[in-house]
Amino acid sequence: MFYDYLVVGAGLFGSVFARQMTDAGFKVLVIDKRDHIAGNIYTENVEGINVHKYGAHIFHTNDRTVWEYVGRFAEFNRYTNSPVANYKGELYSLPFNMYTFNKMWGVTTPQEAYDKINEQREASGITEPKNLEEQAISLVGKDIYEKLIKGYTMKQWGRPCSELPSFIIKRLPVRFTFDNNYFNALYQGIPNGGYTKMVENILEGIDVKLNCDYLKNREELDKKAKTIVYTGPIDAFYDFRFGPLEYRTVRFETEVLDIPNFQGNAVINYTDSETPYTRIIEHKHFEFGTQEKTVISKEYSKSWEKGDEPYYPVNDDKNSELYEKYRALADEEKNVIFGGRLGEYKYYDMDVVVKRALEVSWRRING
Ligand code: UDP
Repeated sequence: MFYDYLVVGAGLFGSVFARQMTDAGFKVLVIDKRDHIAGNIYTENVEGINVHKYGAHIFHTNDRTVWEYVGRFAEFNRYTNSPVANYKGELYSLPFNMYTFNKMWGVTTPQEAYDKINEQREASGITEPKNLEEQAISLVGKDIYEKLIKGYTMKQWGRPCSELPSFIIKRLPVRFTFDNNYFNALYQGIPNGGYTKMVENILEGIDVKLNCDYLKNREELDKKAKTIVYTGPIDAFYDFRFGPLEYRTVRFETEVLDIPNFQGNAVINYTDSETPYTRIIEHKHFEFGTQEKTVISKEYSKSWEKGDEPYYPVNDDKNSELYEKYRALADEEKNVIFGGRLGEYKYYDMDVVVKRALEVSWRRING
């Protein structure tokens, strides 16, 4: 069988691209080196609970087209992400909002909170933030930086905030209202039945081959299609020619507990630097589960090494420069398309991945 497209990776980018091209009349084969579809949004049913095997994923978007698109393949529930930060036993609301400011300083009005942040910002002398540390202090002041950002970020990225780009912290809203919604998105939810089911629906009727490692069987697989859509790490595609890009990976310690409710929330972040994990996920709360048992996962962040699954690109200056070298090679490719978080080495959220896949497929179809 000869295909128009060989899609490497059955994650969100690959699946949406495959769906679009299939619907446009092209023959598509999707392969994945793992034994399951859905990439890192894969969910597995444990004790009746959809466990986010590769870390918590909460779908959120401002883009109606994207929302309606995913709505074709799953019904989304009303879950709204409101993580809680635990700093040495003190609990704070996230994202940074009036509840956080009240707990931190006892302030009760937005003006008081604003004044407090302003006072700390001025004392720091930062006018043009150049890195995550400076950006964080100018957004929320020194106290919040010290208790809720510094330790968590150090654990998450394995380097101090002063060595990280400021855009990472801008993912989080800062609000002078009592609104605990972690995202500024019009649409948000978790697919009923789990992400795996949603991706299964996206891939319906499309040829999928699992346990199939593209990079190990390249010669033979390249013969299977006119065009390759590669969603794995771009540096691996080029055999690390310019050196490896850095990624963060996550190790999970997952436990089934014989109690119905462990922490009362889907996500609790441990923001001190001593607790070795970054957060604990209690999966049932993503779907308002009422099972008798509960499943929790502790997330330990670490540097990616060969054999690990990469999760987060490290978009600092050094890695961004290196990525540009790989991208220059990619731009020259006539028969290869790179997509997704790893293929484009970008800290994309799921909605952006869907949007990119729709755009790329649209361009292929409409020229
Ligand atoms: N962050 C933090 N404290 C928190 C939560 C997040 O300092 O309690 C920072 C941290 O640097 C993190 C970034 O904000 O990498 C983005 O957080 P987000 O929750 O978007 O990360 P993700 O869910 O993608 O891991």
